[in-house]
Amino acid sequence: MDFELTEEQKMLKDMAYRFAQTEIGPAAQECDEGEKYTHEIRKKAAENGMVGAWISEEYGGAGVGILGNALITEEISKFDMGIGLNISAASFGCEAIYQYGSEEQKKQYLPPVCSGEKVSAGAFTEPNAGTDVSGYKTRAVKDGDDYVINGNKMFITNGTVCDFMVAECITNPEEKKHNSFSLIIVPADAKGVTRNKIHGKMGIRASDTAEIALEDVRVPRTNLVGREGNGFKQLMHFFDTTRVMVAGQALGLSEACLETSIKYVKERTAFGAPLGAYQLTQLKLTEMAIRIEALRGLVYKSAWLIDEGRPDYMLAAMAKFFGGQTAVFCANYAVELHGGYGYIEEYPVQKWYRDAKILELYEGTKEAEIMTIGRYLQAR
Ligand SMILES: Cc1cc2nc3c(=O)[nH]c(=O)nc-3n(C[C@H](O)[C@H](O)[C@H](O)COP(=O)(O)OP(=O)(O)OC[C@H]3O[C@@H](n4cnc5c(N)ncnc54)[C@H](O)[C@@H]3O)c2cc1C
Repeated sequence: MDFELTEEQKMLKDMAYRFAQTEIGPAAQECDEGEKYTHEIRKKAAENGMVGAWISEEYGGAGVGILGNALITEEISKFDMGIGLNISAASFGCEAIYQYGSEEQKKQYLPPVCSGEKVSAGAFTEPNAGTDVSGYKTRAVKDGDDYVINGNKMFITNGTVCDFMVAECITNPEEKKHNSFSLIIVPADAKGVTRNKIHGKMGIRASDTAEIALEDVRVPRTNLVGREGNGFKQLMHFFDTTRVMVAGQALGLSEACLETSIKYVKERTAFGAPLGAYQLTQLKLTEMAIRIEALRGLVYKSAWLIDEGRPDYMLAAMAKFFGGQTAVFCANYAVELHGGYGYIEEYPVQKWYRDAKILELYEGTKEAEIMTIGRYLQAR
């Protein structure tokens, strides 16, 4: 058993950290305050091989696998999870094309995302159905060589900045619910696509989130990803992999909370001694550190197993579930350890506290993860 990262992985992690320190950290506050998405930082990250890094080199990626991608995500999330998301989710939706798409689709859609030229999105959630994936209503009707799509998508990351989205649609309503869906690539500039940015998010405000209306949107039937009727299964499998990326975000944010808190309690004094001298403070640091180490194990192992071709999707769901909990826990303690200063914007912990909560909501709520883990446990 070897718990060491390879030299290449260590270098990748180090490169991502230095990139984030130089490019993301200085922009974090401004982007958070102004809800500003920056293409510039995403493109620079792409130049450094950090966008779609999990995609094989054949299709323009860095070929660092899911573990390499988790390491990048961990490091960039230490500085700003919103800007970090603009990098790690610039290829969101491409997971489906990579796994199920045709050779032509892979060659057409993946390289421009990895190079930074284009941005993708995964359009699944709808205004009336999020957790209940089988409740989506967006309909794609065959018409000659085309599909004509009607429906509404909600909370779509990269919604207003993407060039194309992979959308879950009902193509076979005559089939049982789970066999009625298909994933279809929809160009963002297609006639009938209306995109509205959602303002006022609590956290990850540098990321772009949108509501998308699809009204008689015509796309060629060659935009179908994989086989018709397989969209539900494909989406479930898609989440199994992307959960690891979200768990990597949680790991990075939690580590930032701990490191910043350690620095603060060494400097800040109360009752004539540094805060760190008091056992109540040490308990908080200890609880954060233990959770972080346990989370690291879940993230790295679940990523590594996927790369080894032996995926354990229950472990990935555990990483996501525990990741959200750990991030919320650590951000809460980080604010507490900073006292009143933790509540004002001069210190980043207030932002991390706001950012952390999304980790228990998107890519499957924590309740959805419990349902997934519960199912896997009983299917063993
Ligand atoms: C910033 C942001 C970015 C996002 N990005 C994307 C994206 O890129 N693409 C995309 O498709 N979606 C995206 N989402 C949507 C996100 O994945 C959904 O919000 C999430 O899946 C929950 O769906 P919902 O909001 O409809 O809540 P609901 O499904 O209505 O759930 C509400 C509450 O009920 C609970 N609940 C639901 N069913 C059960 C049950 N059976 N038992 C117990 N509790 C249950 C949920 O856990 C939750 O606590 C994003 C959301 C946000 C906020």
